[in-house]
Amino acid sequence: MSVLTIAEIKNGELKKISKELASAARKISSKVYTLLIGGNDEHAQELFSTGSDVVVKHSLSEYSPEAFGNIAFSVAKDKDAKIVLLPHTVQGKDYAGRLSAKLKASLVADIVSIVKGSEEEVEVYKPVYSGKAYATIKASSPTVLTVRPNSQELLTHSGPETIEVSETSEGEVTSRLTDIDASGGTQVQLGDASIIVSGGRGIKGPENWPILQSLCNTLGAALGASRAAVDAGWIPHNHQVGQTGKTVSPNCYIACGISGAIQHLAGMGSSKVIVAVNKDPDAPIFKVATYGIVEDLFHFIPILDTEFKKVIA
Ligand SMILES: Cc1cc2nc3c(=O)[nH]c(=O)nc-3n(C[C@H](O)[C@H](O)[C@H](O)COP(=O)(O)OP(=O)(O)OC[C@H]3O[C@@H](n4cnc5c(N)ncnc54)[C@H](O)[C@@H]3O)c2cc1C
Repeated sequence: MSVLTIAEIKNGELKKISKELASAARKISSKVYTLLIGGNDEHAQELFSTGSDVVVKHSLSEYSPEAFGNIAFSVAKDKDAKIVLLPHTVQGKDYAGRLSAKLKASLVADIVSIVKGSEEEVEVYKPVYSGKAYATIKASSPTVLTVRPNSQELLTHSGPETIEVSETSEGEVTSRLTDIDASGGTQVQLGDASIIVSGGRGIKGPENWPILQSLCNTLGAALGASRAAVDAGWIPHNHQVGQTGKTVSPNCYIACGISGAIQHLAGMGSSKVIVAVNKDPDAPIFKVATYGIVEDLFHFIPILDTEFKKVIA
């Protein structure tokens, strides 16, 4: 059975989820194709080393959901892919529906695990009801799956490496990207971060973000926030984690002065390690925390930052 994964390039870099998809596909298939639109041979090497057998390069550099959907459709058909894996990112979500409609395939979004996959059927595991529960879903092939970033372990793979070039037409494109407002600048973006330090109402005011930002800088982490902090006008909405913000799944999520409301947990509950710093021992966040620290964050976070600085040269 052949599986097609679709890589994603952002600012000239291969997004990590692209390699996760190659690894996830490798676990269920002995023939893994990856479509790389706008990438180069170095990106292809990264994909080979994490699971791909064949990287199909396409030179299109400008994103449009129609063009990406058309090219992915053509390659999926050509490779007779029974399962197509896309990143569950803003971009992947944008054209996954279009692709599944063109392929007449079932679509399951935001999966965190592929339980099994065959020519006929795929079984996947995904959060439902804003992360309050997990569901196992069976879908008949062909299937398009969007996969939550940071949910898949990276494998080391070696084998024959083939690069093909696709010259398939981008087809009819009626909408074009004209501008990107990259608010957030050079800071680590939430969706890409393997560590997130997040602040809630407990940080008391915007003048205290530098305490968390310093820890972010030390750890190479992204800065997140609860809706309470966003609604108070302390930080822009693009930092919000939760049901009405971003869904993240970092290796480590450090929640500072966040109570752990269900709507916040919906956005970060699948983090691998959750560290909660809260001065209320009964705060609900401690129910999901891997490590719970009952402390005043203004006392604890600077100490943590100083200690990390000593070990991270
Ligand atoms: C439809 C809907 C959608 C929503 N979507 C989201 C969403 O996407 N994201 C989201 O976050 N929320 C969302 N909410 C809001 C959510 O219900 C909570 O109100 C919000 O998450 C609370 O934010 P908080 O934990 O920062 O504040 P609080 O609940 O007020 O908690 C603050 C915490 O800080 C602790 N604290 C105070 N001082 C200190 C200190 N010095 N040191 C350490 N700890 C301290 C307190 O003990 C407390 O636990 C949504 C709500 C609704 C109804």
